[in-house]
Amino acid sequence: MRFLILSDIHSNLEALEAVMQRARGEYDRAMCCGDVVGYGPNPNEVTEYIRELDPLIVRGNHEKAALGLVDLTLFNPLAKKAALWTQSVLTTENSDYLQGIPSGPLDESQFTLIHGSLLDEDEYLVDLDEALQTLQKTWNPLTFFGHTHVQGGFVLFKDSRAGFLNPEMKKGIYESQLRIDLEGKFLVNPGSVGQPRDYDWRAAYAIYDQAQQLVRYFRAEYPVEITQEKMRAAQLPQYLIDRLSLGR
Ligand code: ZN
Repeated sequence: MRFLILSDIHSNLEALEAVMQRARGEYDRAMCCGDVVGYGPNPNEVTEYIRELDPLIVRGNHEKAALGLVDLTLFNPLAKKAALWTQSVLTTENSDYLQGIPSGPLDESQFTLIHGSLLDEDEYLVDLDEALQTLQKTWNPLTFFGHTHVQGGFVLFKDSRAGFLNPEMKKGIYESQLRIDLEGKFLVNPGSVGQPRDYDWRAAYAIYDQAQQLVRYFRAEYPVEITQEKMRAAQLPQYLIDRLSLGR
């Protein structure tokens, strides 16, 4: 099986369409590590796209926010404004779908899906120390996560060596490969489709080829100015508009 791994789509339809077009024919089953909505201008269209795609999926903190399940005073003011706007435009059918997305961890044979960390869907795995706490508790060799919007991840080898996974994704490079050693533990972040924060504005995703034990990280260019124009029309915060083209 080859799995397409999406995460942190954040209501960005142009980014999602670019990824799906590029990934066409390259996977058998799709998966999503959460945050289908929030921040971007097309929560309904993106949710409908995901409903149609029917991936293996865990919810993210922005699903909870869009459904009114979290105290929005804990969100930063800009994310809160976008969450309230998302709540106001989501159709009942799409809210119902988002409501039905289970919280992680979601286990499959040989891999697990989470949004934040293994025990807390809202925790950001940024530092190696934090990642190690999750890596030491995981039972599968491979765990896919999102939430940080940074493509890459972490590894813990059988001999206790540990480190970051840094895909080589300089300008002009669109793919980077990672060989999975089933005796180690890998935490893989496919990156964010709709709001990357790793200083690369291109939509991020990954494909996991289970037969070859190969993770392929990808970036796809998309017409970001169209998304930004829609955000302006919806009067979403300027900072959220600007960050898309900066990738941070
Ligand atoms: Zn997110």
